[in-house]
Amino acid sequence: MQVLVLGAGQLAKMMAEEADTLGLIVRAFDVRTNQVVDPITKEAHASSLQAAIDAADIVTAEFEHIPLDILTMCENSGKLRPSATAIRTGGDRRIEKGLLDGAWVKNAAYKVIKDITELQHAVNTLGLPLVLKSAMDGYDGKGQWRLKYQQDVERVAVDISEFIKHSSDSQGIVAEQFVRFEREVSIIGARNQQGDVACYPITENQHHEGILHISVARGDESAELQAQAQQIFNNIANALNYVGVLAVECFVTGGQLLVNEIAPRVHNSGHWTQQGAATSQFSNHLRAVCDMPLGSTVQIAPTAMINILGEDELPKTVYQMPGVTVHWYGKEKRPGRKMGHINVTGQDVAELNARLADLASCLDPHAFPLMAQFA
Ligand code: ATP
Ligand code: MG
Ligand code: MG
Repeated sequence: MQVLVLGAGQLAKMMAEEADTLGLIVRAFDVRTNQVVDPITKEAHASSLQAAIDAADIVTAEFEHIPLDILTMCENSGKLRPSATAIRTGGDRRIEKGLLDGAWVKNAAYKVIKDITELQHAVNTLGLPLVLKSAMDGYDGKGQWRLKYQQDVERVAVDISEFIKHSSDSQGIVAEQFVRFEREVSIIGARNQQGDVACYPITENQHHEGILHISVARGDESAELQAQAQQIFNNIANALNYVGVLAVECFVTGGQLLVNEIAPRVHNSGHWTQQGAATSQFSNHLRAVCDMPLGSTVQIAPTAMINILGEDELPKTVYQMPGVTVHWYGKEKRPGRKMGHINVTGQDVAELNARLADLASCLDPHAFPLMAQFA
């Protein structure tokens, strides 16, 4: 079977790395260059998108910000999984918020705004602080504004007006109450066409300047929190009649989960499953979209995933450390760019922590600011 992935980044690459074990061939369509490529070697194939869709048995996506004409073309082939609706829901915060409300999933109170008058109205009804998020195209905290005081409203007014003026008329902004969360976690799971669901244990996400730096799956979250997360996952996945791997990012406040956002795809906070779970999220995504049996989501080791941002090498000693696996994406170095990640496992949480302490001692603290917590 052949799978075509929309998007040719690291997520498509890591899916392709699992393909041999499932007897699948994975091709990628680079939406920016309009080229069909090998997701691992990046070698281009002389093939149009339509020809690649025709040659594929299944079409899927590694990101949600896909031009509508391409998405429609794929949907029309009858091979797209998850559906165009599911992908668009993840790519537009207005649709996403509507879905969460409709599926009875708790999320931060919000208003959709289209101008400064509506922003002021949102401030009056929701209160401050607020987070403003562009409805579409946001990732890694880009396209967001934070408002703490009334004078911040005046401060961002020009910015917001400019943003709305220059964006296509399909744009808008979601003004969301700021959540004073204790932690952030995500739940990742796979759902197949028959509606079977397999969820991984929840993982704790640590962000710095809007970007995910570390995700830790210690495997010691309470059964109560895991059950809550799985209920949320089921509500969302069923509402979308979802097929594939889906990620749900949540805030934890007072033992309750509030959903921040969803990602209709494999997710950075699920990379730990490559070394820490019986089946990786990449394998399970391919299995779900190709109508193959889902693999076990059982955790096999407490695991931490550390993003490598803007660096293209690590000290050699890292490669000698037990329980440490480095994954490089083969991308050109740019400041802050996700270049790879490190998975660290231990037999138990104590061993994981000891290994994280060793790792912290040899990584550059400027490139890995959150590693200090383990030192
Ligand atoms: P990505 O898709 O890369 O995860 P994004 O650009 O879609 O990021 P969000 O996940 O919405 O952005 O926000 C980034 C981070 O900002 C969140 O993980 C969280 O730390 C913080 N944040 C977002 N919304 C809120 C909120 N309502 N209250 C408090 N913090 C928030
Ligand atoms: Mg997002
Ligand atoms: Mg997010």
